[in-house]
Amino acid sequence: MKRIVILGAAESGAGAAVLAKKKGFDVFVSDMSTIKDRYKQQLDSYGIAWEEGKHTEALILSADEVIKSPGIPENAPMIQKLKAQGTPIISEIEFAGRYTDAKMICITGSNGKTTTTSLIYHILKNAGYNVGLAGNIGKSLALQVAEDHYDYYVIELSSFQLDNMYDFKADIAVLMNITPDHLDRYDFKMQNYVDSKMRILQNQTENDAFVFWHDDPIVTQELQKYNIKAKLCPFSEFKGKDVIAYADADEYVIEWPTPFNMEQEELALRGKHNLYNSLAAGITADLAGVSNEKIREGLKTFEGVEHRLEKAGRVRGVEFINDSKATNVNACWYALDSMRTPTVLILGGKDKGNDYSEIFNLVREKCIGLVFLGVDNTKLHAAFDSFGIPIADVKSMKDCVDECFKMARPGSTVLLSPCCASFDLFKNMEDRGEQFKECVRNL
Ligand code: ADP
Repeated sequence: MKRIVILGAAESGAGAAVLAKKKGFDVFVSDMSTIKDRYKQQLDSYGIAWEEGKHTEALILSADEVIKSPGIPENAPMIQKLKAQGTPIISEIEFAGRYTDAKMICITGSNGKTTTTSLIYHILKNAGYNVGLAGNIGKSLALQVAEDHYDYYVIELSSFQLDNMYDFKADIAVLMNITPDHLDRYDFKMQNYVDSKMRILQNQTENDAFVFWHDDPIVTQELQKYNIKAKLCPFSEFKGKDVIAYADADEYVIEWPTPFNMEQEELALRGKHNLYNSLAAGITADLAGVSNEKIREGLKTFEGVEHRLEKAGRVRGVEFINDSKATNVNACWYALDSMRTPTVLILGGKDKGNDYSEIFNLVREKCIGLVFLGVDNTKLHAAFDSFGIPIADVKSMKDCVDECFKMARPGSTVLLSPCCASFDLFKNMEDRGEQFKECVRNL
């Protein structure tokens, strides 16, 4: 019997284990950290062997194939050993893709993945499609393939997932943008990260479609290197380019495959970045055959995603916005760009090789205060001290919100859009966002 070893037992690993077991493999799960109780129960209920707090070499190196959690870096010692002996290492999505004929709609990019994925899912679901949501969101693809039977999957793909995908094919691939992120996992070489994102195109045929943001300089330059067979579906903020969808004055326009238009005012999501997300989602729904009426309805009724430019409350005339998910500089750029009132900006956390110069102009133009929330704020001071804007250093969310409130004045906005990962002071970005909202409620 073929042996499959799964490294990392969170949502994707536990799901892959269940699917592998159902498909008759000899399955073993190993996690260097503690496995959450619900995943232990899931593994136990299927009689799957597992270990936690260690990687037992003999049990792992005997694998015929390994499914790796996207959280484990390529340079982890066990991965190096597996590679040295030639054991194939794949992602959970690659594995799950082998066992379903459902249409795959896959979304990647440095920013906007979760929003666009959720919006596409919302439009399809609202239109009555039998559709599952997977990838970094909710239930793993593998578990859904094992337990449910969907005709379509809308899947958010990170570069780490794409890294270990080889034969998988997206029927509709969506690439939102490429800006520097996660460079610490790519030898600090931008091209490595770009190559990873471009894997979304691999295996696509002339029957497939590739939706992408035409205004992204990196994407358009990269595309020249590829012989793309899929139908090209570029979209832009501007009319007049060689694109199939665009924003024209106050209108939202799709020209192909089915002509469609609506007022931008009617879109549920606000901000320029969300206009791109709405265009990508509208084209994708159109390609999937959703009627104009249902596309309009979906774009109007989407409720947004938590921790993405989420309103966190208004206290004595000060608006608080939770954009905890902005874990790179480009995401923060779009958040700042959409601010309409003087802003106190919260930055900081675990820096992933950031270049803050991208937001210098917006910080000069919009910020009345900066609060650095992190264990090590040295790089932020080096970047912003010379601006002459009031700056405070804090190490807890309570102090952070108090400090922001002192700097803010009625009519201004406090924006948590920190450009950094959260792991130095918080469990994850959700924890950071929740604590922010809680502290605002307690003001
Ligand atoms: P991802 O899943 O790629 O991290 P999200 O949809 O969760 O993307 O959004 C993350 C952050 O990026 C948000 O906080 C928002 O400020 C910003 N953002 C969202 N969409 C875009 C976009 N199309 N381009 C640039 N920034 C965006």
